[in-house]
Amino acid sequence: MRSDICELCGSSKDLSVYELVSGDEEKSAVVCATCKGMIENPDTLEPNHFRCLSDSMWSEQIGVQALSYRILKRIDEDWARSLVDMMYLEDSVLEWAEDSKGSDIVHKDSNGTTLNEGDTVTLIKDLDVKGAGFTAKRGTAVRNIRLTDNPEQIEGKVNGVQIVLLTKFLKKA
Ligand SMILES: [Zn+2]
Repeated sequence: MRSDICELCGSSKDLSVYELVSGDEEKSAVVCATCKGMIENPDTLEPNHFRCLSDSMWSEQIGVQALSYRILKRIDEDWARSLVDMMYLEDSVLEWAEDSKGSDIVHKDSNGTTLNEGDTVTLIKDLDVKGAGFTAKRGTAVRNIRLTDNPEQIEGKVNGVQIVLLTKFLKKA
């Protein structure tokens, strides 16, 4: 392990490597069981335990910077917000420092039903597909959809063409 103490709070108890990006050692941090438990179960997070982040956020390890940032963002207290304001993360780090995709983005169809990756949906109205020169007819089934970062859009194949569809025009099949 890279460190023999928790890179967040300095404890040496029950250390493990917490990967922010699976399989990428650079994007990880060595954490103790206490820190890890609170990271994995945000309901148990004790803000005062993470006062230590005011030091660890200046670590030279980008994994520690990013994890500090991620935790601070979850703490709804003034001191935590002001630490976030003081932090400077490279854009390339911010991309994966934020909580992973899908954690708070929820895609819903026209009925408010949650859509998941791989679902089949049907169109609830005729849609002109710009650029492709056809109209996707109401009732067309779109199989194996992909979710995007935008909660109002999904991607799917219609007539063999991969297109972006607005969730408000879809119904889960
Ligand atoms: Zn710790």
